[in-house]
Amino acid sequence: MAGTFYRVRCEDCENEQIVFGKASTDVACAVCGTTLARPTGGKASIDHEIVEPVESR
Ligand SMILES: [Zn+2]
Repeated sequence: MAGTFYRVRCEDCENEQIVFGKASTDVACAVCGTTLARPTGGKASIDHEIVEPVESR
């Protein structure tokens, strides 16, 4: 579990983007700028729909 990424769909504009599961800063949607995930001291809290986990290789 060194680094799990998630494919997250922005509920505002339906953009899909990869978010690091342990993001240490707010992650903003690249299209509309809404906050997709925020740090919670370890695991990121993802506020939008997780489409699927993405294994890091
Ligand atoms: Zn968006």
